[in-house]
Amino acid sequence: MSLRKTKLIGTLGPATSSPEVIRSLIGAGAGIFRLNMSHAAHEWVREVVAVVRSEASALGAEVATLVDLQGPSIRTGDVEGKLALRKGDLVEFRNAALAPAADLSVTTNYDGLHGDLREGDLMLVDNGELHFRVQRIEPGRVLGEVLTEGAMGSRRHINLPGILVHLPVLTEKDERDIALAAGIDADFVAISFVRDAAHVALLREKLRALGCGASVVAKIEDQEAVKHLAEIVTEADAVMVARGDLGIEVHLEELPVVQRRIVAECARIGRKVIVATHMLESMVENPVPTRAEVTDVANAVFEQADAIMLSGETSVGRYPVKCVETLDRIARRIERETVPGSSETLELKSEKEQLVRSAVLLAQSLERAALLVFTARGVLANLAANLRPGRAPIFAFSPDAAVVRSLVMNRAVLPVRFDLDDDPAENTRRALAYLREKGLVEAGDPVVIVSDVLLPGFDNGAVLLRHA
Ligand code: PEP
Repeated sequence: MSLRKTKLIGTLGPATSSPEVIRSLIGAGAGIFRLNMSHAAHEWVREVVAVVRSEASALGAEVATLVDLQGPSIRTGDVEGKLALRKGDLVEFRNAALAPAADLSVTTNYDGLHGDLREGDLMLVDNGELHFRVQRIEPGRVLGEVLTEGAMGSRRHINLPGILVHLPVLTEKDERDIALAAGIDADFVAISFVRDAAHVALLREKLRALGCGASVVAKIEDQEAVKHLAEIVTEADAVMVARGDLGIEVHLEELPVVQRRIVAECARIGRKVIVATHMLESMVENPVPTRAEVTDVANAVFEQADAIMLSGETSVGRYPVKCVETLDRIARRIERETVPGSSETLELKSEKEQLVRSAVLLAQSLERAALLVFTARGVLANLAANLRPGRAPIFAFSPDAAVVRSLVMNRAVLPVRFDLDDDPAENTRRALAYLREKGLVEAGDPVVIVSDVLLPGFDNGAVLLRHA
């Protein structure tokens, strides 16, 4: 079977903790497993990551892990049962240390709330379902008028669209979770509610201080992040279109426009991009997706996202393996349909970048061509993938296990762990033998080779071979 170019990410949870299910998810095509730190306990993460690694190794699959930090989310505190809210009611959101001064009163975990809001601002609670208009602000208290009827339970997420909040970039919980990510040698760590590039740099600094080389994923989930998009994308290794929160923080009809903008910016700057959330939401309960969900997934594949992500569908849903199979089927079908040209937008500066562009154009112009990249640090393979070489798959050979796992997320890349010999000809012979044995290239197929070490003593070269 041909390679699927779009990579699949599954969030692990109670529905997907067992070795059998994890094995089936890998078999169905999941290449990256996400640990959502909003819900995952440390001990469980350690256990489940060990299961993932042992199942991946038993299957001979390269599988990466993504630790997704909760970030500084604003939440309401505990209430007894649920608060019944009617239109026009006034609800008090107060600092935790204060006693209630209204019948309908709830604490929040953010003592700066009254300082960031103004009268007339909109507050959205519980996944954007409950709407409040700020009526009055007092020290430590915000009074909001209920605009939508409903019931408010405990620890509900609060979104403040368009408001610049002064929350810390990383909470104490995030710091503990970063240490966990370093401890389990995570391949990717995602920062939530990133508001500017410095936040991304801070996470990278913290990871490196702990000796962790994980790639940093910036989650774009509010208007502040959209405002600083180019700087954030430049600073990050990968970007996630986190449509759950983003769809609350921007007007819903803006969401597809913002998604396109983020994907395009990643193509321009050359960063991996993940489209996430609600891709197959109805499959949390049902064995088949809605037509609209199929079209949404297809749209992300048409946009040439590197990866598409499942959240509740795999963590708590009834059909986790079916969900991955469904993404796999849609992605393969859409990839057959499109004949995308290589990216014209990626800005190339160095000679090395120009060389990879030439190799990509060459591979794209030849029937059945593949790109073969020898890549010590993953730079050449990453670049080739960012250039989106049409139909040509990219086989990336690297001796470094961490580099191989980081390349699992790149569109169209099949990363292979491979000891590099001093003799470039020997590397080429062995790599081609591997691809022939796996049925990935056939006799007569043109193979464009890009390498840092094609000839002893020379840097960066590309060559075209037609395997006899
Ligand atoms: C999202 O908001 O879409 C998202 C992926 O983040 P989380 O699920 O962590 O809120």
